[in-house]
Amino acid sequence: MSLQTVNPAKGELVREFPSIDIPEILRILDDVVTDAAVWRGMSFYERGNCFRSAAKLLRANKEAYGKTITLEMGKPITEAMAECEKCAWVCEYYADKAAEYLADEPLETSASEAFATFQPLGCVLAIMPWNFPFWQVFRAAAPGMMAGNAMVLKHASNVPQCALTIESIFQQSGFPMNVFRTLMVGSDGAAIAIAHPAVNAVTLTGSTKAGEKVAAMAGSLIKKCVLELGGADAYIVLEDADLDLAVEKIVAGRMLNAGQSCIAAKRAIVLPKVREAFEQKVVAAMKEITLGDPTLAQTKLGPMARIDLRDEIHDQVQASIKAGAKLLIGGYIPEQPGAWYPPTVISDSPEGSPAYDQEMFGPVLSIVEAKDEHDAVRIANSSEYGLGGAVFTQNLERGRKLAREKLHAGAVFINDFVKSDPRLPFGGMKRSGYGRELSSYGIKEFVNIKTVVLA
Ligand code: NDP
Repeated sequence: MSLQTVNPAKGELVREFPSIDIPEILRILDDVVTDAAVWRGMSFYERGNCFRSAAKLLRANKEAYGKTITLEMGKPITEAMAECEKCAWVCEYYADKAAEYLADEPLETSASEAFATFQPLGCVLAIMPWNFPFWQVFRAAAPGMMAGNAMVLKHASNVPQCALTIESIFQQSGFPMNVFRTLMVGSDGAAIAIAHPAVNAVTLTGSTKAGEKVAAMAGSLIKKCVLELGGADAYIVLEDADLDLAVEKIVAGRMLNAGQSCIAAKRAIVLPKVREAFEQKVVAAMKEITLGDPTLAQTKLGPMARIDLRDEIHDQVQASIKAGAKLLIGGYIPEQPGAWYPPTVISDSPEGSPAYDQEMFGPVLSIVEAKDEHDAVRIANSSEYGLGGAVFTQNLERGRKLAREKLHAGAVFINDFVKSDPRLPFGGMKRSGYGRELSSYGIKEFVNIKTVVLA
């Protein structure tokens, strides 16, 4: 089996990499174990310096790295470069914060002294997706490794050059050579790594289907998992919303990365009083977004990452229309090579149809009308996913109440689209997965919380 760079803008194979064999996987894992011990013995200050160097490299080379991202998965170059900047931010964030977040915690008991201490687990396997091929990796690596763990990356098979580039960033930034390694393997190779005693825990970002398989494998070996899976985020637009703001944020939140984001604004749930105006404004805004060459700075919407993924979302759109949904804009496959799909809006997709209850991983917004606020919450929560969500209202107390008490999601934003940020815990519930990344919570996922008591 090989890992391939296929340029999604042209549909052309650019480069192929043979996947490594089992002896090579085992050799790499042995090397990681050796350097994991070195890394664990380093202070937060020393580890932080490595991450600060990585941040510098990411900023200095964001154009070159951005080009690799764009080549392999098609996102516009400005978004790819911004992704590198964000990776630099998370490296610096944890270089600054790790010692504070992982400081021993004194505990009051009848003993003369008691405290909780946070010790690394060893080596974390990161199984990562192609949609934010740098960010997803650094988002896991910065907290996990600042906590003292080594990391092995099994990246998505369509971004092999990103995977190798990320490994080289660690190797050029003063880290022990084998504390972060890339395994050039497909999902069969991931199974070998999960089973290997060198791997103590697994973090996966990807589809719920992959999550089920990886969690089953890791679970059977009693290895901890963090799962960041799909989402079908509901954006509720109440009758008192600032409509222009709602449209601006929902369109931006839907179209970023050609809609290929777990926290994209996938379903707009709108109250009757504002539905017609909302729909008209959304369609007008979507018309302004045109497909363009992702290597050009002015491009806002490039191709999707792979032709099979484009075909999949087109099938979902067609099936929704067949079930009774209205197509308001888009919904066709452009006649050109590559994984192109236009901005698409569908409304009134009935319950049971893909646009109502599946994850739509592309530039397609589904508008659903709710009878009232209560009904909007019911529709939002009817999804099997529970990653993010948003509420648009000018009554902040109402927004806060819905966010805090009513919506089943890992994060709810009021009057904005959901974003990941190193300072905010990130993760989901239901079939969106479990565990948290980022913030003080993310860095505690892959540590042994050890209790120490002095009699
Ligand atoms: P996958 O979930 O298949 O891929 C994500 C990662 O998981 C890749 O590294 C993949 O490896 C790996 N993987 C997949 N199956 C297994 C397995 N059985 N054992 C170990 N590793 C595995 O996503 P796809 O690329 O197929 O995209 C399909 C759908 O997944 C999208 O349409 C979207 O709905 C969802 N998705 C969600 C993401 C998110 O951020 N929540 C990100 C990406 C996709 P390999 O590439 O070698 O198969």
